[in-house]
Amino acid sequence: MEHGIILGCLQADSCSQGSLVPDRTCPDINLKRSGGAHKIATFMRTKGWDIEVLDYWLAFTTDEFEQFIKSRVNKDTKFIGVSVTFGYRGKYLKRAQDHLTWLKEEYPDVMIVAGSKSLIDTMNLPCDYYVAGYGEFGLYHLLNGTAVISDFMGKKFINADKNHPCFPQKDLVVRYEDRDFIQPTDNLTLELSRGCKFKCKFCQYNAIGLRGDIDRDMKSLYTELKENYEKWGVTSYHCADETVNDNTEKLRRAAEEIKKLPFKPNLGGFTRADLLISREDDKKYLAEMGYWAHYYGIETYNQKSGSVIGKGMDRDKMKQGLLDIRDYFWKECGRYRSTTSLIIGLPYETRESIFEGLDWHKENFLQENLVLFPLFLNRFSKQLESQGVTSISEFERTWEDGDHFHNHTITDEEVGANPEAFPDTGLRQYLWGNYKQNAALPWSHDTFNWWTTHLVLRDIYLKDYMVNRGIMSWELFNFTTPGTYDWDSVLQLNFDNYDAVKLKSDKDLFIQNYKNSKLNI
Ligand code: SF4
Repeated sequence: MEHGIILGCLQADSCSQGSLVPDRTCPDINLKRSGGAHKIATFMRTKGWDIEVLDYWLAFTTDEFEQFIKSRVNKDTKFIGVSVTFGYRGKYLKRAQDHLTWLKEEYPDVMIVAGSKSLIDTMNLPCDYYVAGYGEFGLYHLLNGTAVISDFMGKKFINADKNHPCFPQKDLVVRYEDRDFIQPTDNLTLELSRGCKFKCKFCQYNAIGLRGDIDRDMKSLYTELKENYEKWGVTSYHCADETVNDNTEKLRRAAEEIKKLPFKPNLGGFTRADLLISREDDKKYLAEMGYWAHYYGIETYNQKSGSVIGKGMDRDKMKQGLLDIRDYFWKECGRYRSTTSLIIGLPYETRESIFEGLDWHKENFLQENLVLFPLFLNRFSKQLESQGVTSISEFERTWEDGDHFHNHTITDEEVGANPEAFPDTGLRQYLWGNYKQNAALPWSHDTFNWWTTHLVLRDIYLKDYMVNRGIMSWELFNFTTPGTYDWDSVLQLNFDNYDAVKLKSDKDLFIQNYKNSKLNI
């Protein structure tokens, strides 16, 4: 039987969690299993392949990694995949590069294939091929010699979403094996649908603006969750859907299956707050599903900015709706956590409108989590588009038209950009590094430019808008999976009062146990 290995690991991004003190944020290695690696492995097994997944592969030392690979690679091994959710940085990027370089030297005939949603996340890894997008069919075609392969900056690139699209998809089941050593506290990945029905102007995902039925086969939802519960005791999941509540009928059918289970799961994912507010049944079915950890792309509290990006709900209605949702889920599920994601610097946003929104949030939603991102436009978007890459946002495509943006870019000199503008703490490293990142287009419009978004972000941190925030909805499991907290106690924590020492030691033990199991120690 043909054999392959898929390496998966998520690196936690401490800054995006709302804290800039690395020692007191989530562990660098995220305890999340690699959703992409296990999905691809499940698919390839249906095609007759023997596929093993190695989670947390960047937590393995050089010796441990080499020991694992030497014990697994055999004459039937055709490929080693690297599944990347977000790009690697710092010491983990170096470790990934070193491990892959060794792999190629040791096993030159084994193909190394990187996969991620976007080539930008993987192109700094030394691999033979790079698959971007939902990659099941792209990898399968590559291994069969039938993939469409193009050259992008010297990389052999498979644009799966364009040439071998795997969305929408009815079969979204993921199956785990004994050799995955799944634990009852694991928080696995679930897909209820693939692709998004909406088309927000800043959005860089490929599979957006889809029409028709994009939902999975819901009958298999019951069997998937029941199997994971009976075999491994798992009850918690992240939904990977771009928008979990994109249609009410999907939620009704999912709730119908979930209610038959012998347990009530803990679920979370990307949620459109405006739809949740305006559609009563969304709340009802999500609560029945045990879906109480919500990540909202609110983006802005400025009415006009919201309308421009396609999220134009009346802001007062939105604010009252958020308070009502919080009360509803606490009552119905006994748990609730939201993360509000805001974009700094949308067209028509002003410094005043940002701080007005943040004041409301601080006063009414302090225990809830908040994340902030400067409006990012990729400077390589036109180049990528000419190569057939579809993950280009509407803003990236049209900014030069001058409708919402000035049709020229700024320079550091023009705006006085200088690292000294930030206090000499983790804040300087984060904000200056973010401002100077290679792929960032230095855009401008009437009320903001790429530099001034960073100055506002500085002031938000310095004015303590992020202090005492609850743990991010996506990150709660990093506190429960190692057993340090349970679902109720983690909701009482904030970034300033959890037991960082115990969390780290529990997390290290969790990963060590996994490594020992994989290495047969
Ligand atoms: S931002 Fe979210 S809701 Fe909007 S198009 Fe992108 S995935 Fe869909």
